Amino acid sequence: MNASAPVPSVLNLRPEAEQAPTSGIVDVFSYGRNKPGIIPLWVGEGDLKTPSFICEAAARSLSEGETFYTYQRGIPELRQAIAAYHERVYRKPFDPERFFVTSGGMPAMQIVFRMISGTGDEVLIPTPAWPNFAGAITISGARPVGVPMTIDAKGWHLDFERLEQSITPRTRAIVINSPSNPTGWTASHEDLRLVLSMARRHGLWIVADEIYSRFVHDPAFDIEGRTPSFRDVMEHEDKVLFVQTFSKNWAMTGWRLGWLEAPPALGQVIENLVQYQTSGTPVFIQRGGVAAMEQGEDFIADQIARAKRGREIVASLTETGLVELPLPAGAFYAFLKIKGATSSKDIAFRLIDEANVGLAPGSAFGEAGEGYLRLCYLRKHEDLVEAVRRISEALPRLVG
Ligand code: PMP
Repeated sequence: MNASAPVPSVLNLRPEAEQAPTSGIVDVFSYGRNKPGIIPLWVGEGDLKTPSFICEAAARSLSEGETFYTYQRGIPELRQAIAAYHERVYRKPFDPERFFVTSGGMPAMQIVFRMISGTGDEVLIPTPAWPNFAGAITISGARPVGVPMTIDAKGWHLDFERLEQSITPRTRAIVINSPSNPTGWTASHEDLRLVLSMARRHGLWIVADEIYSRFVHDPAFDIEGRTPSFRDVMEHEDKVLFVQTFSKNWAMTGWRLGWLEAPPALGQVIENLVQYQTSGTPVFIQRGGVAAMEQGEDFIADQIARAKRGREIVASLTETGLVELPLPAGAFYAFLKIKGATSSKDIAFRLIDEANVGLAPGSAFGEAGEGYLRLCYLRKHEDLVEAVRRISEALPRLVG
């Protein structure tokens, strides 16, 4: 439990590295990961393995000897397959030159912040937010500025006034994660237009993280199987950078495969940054990605159905009278407000000890998340039913 012990300054590290925060999710995960019988709902992944047709494509590539250095922007077949996927999902043409393969969504994000922010800059993030945004921004030398969202009985909302008031001459970008990890907040087209016009007025970049867009549960936000996107409202020349990943839709968290969507004019810069980051994503991993893009729709449909049912199961936690949960419109997380909770981290540790269930503490998602716990419901339904039972039994003791 001592994962956040400060690094001794005698080691003389860059302050940006030294100040990089330890993830509050990892803290709890490290504490409970080996407990027998634990139901692990803390990290952001489902419990299904990668489908075999994806694994087989990667294995074939390896056995055929595709083990050499490769294109920094990604193999042409994958860039083409990603463009075709976007054409299916967004129903308009996409140039493969807009897509750059990365070794996961996280490396895509690192490249983004290395391109657009550095020492002395600020980047706005509506919070609660996935902590890795702030981590990547800090490492780039810039300062993450959290802008708390508001909440009412209907759920979370962007506070546009507060967002605009937070812009200073140092601000370089706004991060918009919709559907959001952890809250499930999902932007409407109107929200996206307002953010876009704010960014245009102030000359800011938008970092769009729409990785959960296929997981849409609320019909009000469902546009033929995906949530509203900046792609629907932006012009070609708008300064929008999309980070993307194979991790969630195709159950490929351990593969480390993602992509960046950016104006083609940035191609050479991105290629250079990939060169000095990973020097290219392994070809055999990318072959798995091509199979996922071309044959993955049935699997995605199963995942979405699984998440929808999971969301219904965990909603019953409100019956304890100790939990508030505006139903998430998208993604696959329940962000539970625990009545009477003062330290979500304490409750998360005690739930491990006393209920054998692993949840992520809301405080890991910024100050605005204190008093909440995040539960990932993309899991086997029996596990979720049992987790709900255990949590409901333990909670009165923990907050009573
Ligand atoms: N964005 C969000 C909002 C996420 O929740 C995650 C993973 N938890 C990612 C990006 C990155 O995913 P990965 O690095 O696994 O591709």
